[in-house]
Amino acid sequence: MTDEERFKDCERFIVKCKRSSCGQETTLELLFKGASNALAVNDTCPGCNNQYSAGAVSNQLNIAMRRHIKEYYMSWQKCEDPSCGYSTRQVPLTRQRGAPMCPQCFRAHLHPVFSDTALYTQLLYFSRLFDFDHAVKNSKTAVGVTQTTKSFYKAVHSVITKVLTANGYSEVNLSKLFSSFFV
Ligand SMILES: [Zn+2]
Ligand SMILES: [Zn+2]
Repeated sequence: MTDEERFKDCERFIVKCKRSSCGQETTLELLFKGASNALAVNDTCPGCNNQYSAGAVSNQLNIAMRRHIKEYYMSWQKCEDPSCGYSTRQVPLTRQRGAPMCPQCFRAHLHPVFSDTALYTQLLYFSRLFDFDHAVKNSKTAVGVTQTTKSFYKAVHSVITKVLTANGYSEVNLSKLFSSFFV
């Protein structure tokens, strides 16, 4: 499966150039789009040709990631026992082995209607927009990249890692999950 297929249902990331004279909004592409394609340019605004501020991009990305994580947790939860079929938007406090217990039948767990996989795929998609190491490892055309560009990607990508960690998705867990989904 190519990354393009993998991420086809993901919400795209639109970055807004913070230069007051520009302000252009640009939909970013995956850095790596196949071994023979040139890497995408996600650090430079096509409107004014200036490099984005890593801080500004990180902020916008942070907001988008938090929104997805929140949507996931706010989504409907459904009882896994079909004979019960209880569903709710509120996660009950009674938990057993990690998953919340159904407050109607008390026999089964509640599970989010939107899957973990969808959230992880979305977060991985954001990560891949700025994962320069991953892109370079797979690309055969990455040459002549400046140190400024590398630093930009490194700075933004570290913010993504921080958000993931803060939300309980450790790098180890994620890479395990991702490697089982995306081999
Ligand atoms: Zn611009
Ligand atoms: Zn139930």
